[in-house]
Amino acid sequence: MATFEHLVRELLKATKRVDHSLQQLQHKATQVQQKYEPRIEFERWKQTLGGRKWKRQQYKQQDGRCQMCQRPITLKGSHIDHIKPLSRYPNLAITSENLQILCVDCNLRKGKK
Ligand SMILES: [Zn+2]
Repeated sequence: MATFEHLVRELLKATKRVDHSLQQLQHKATQVQQKYEPRIEFERWKQTLGGRKWKRQQYKQQDGRCQMCQRPITLKGSHIDHIKPLSRYPNLAITSENLQILCVDCNLRKGKK
């Protein structure tokens, strides 16, 4: 019967649509995860002994100045910046070669780009 075949075809089509939506959802979930997890990892790292030690050393290396505008900064009032943005390079979240210290102004300006 044509009607039965028609129903089966419609059912298959509907199943495919559901599969497709599910895939899209999973894709979005992965994107959200990738966006937030490195940020959390980085925030956590900053609080660790290793993270704090890195910042002190880097601060000395930069001669107590902002890497971008070269203005003198305080260790406490400065920000750790990702040279290659975290959103595009989540694998470099806590790679010291990708980190620099900026003054608050430069960091915020950079973030707006
Ligand atoms: Zn600066």
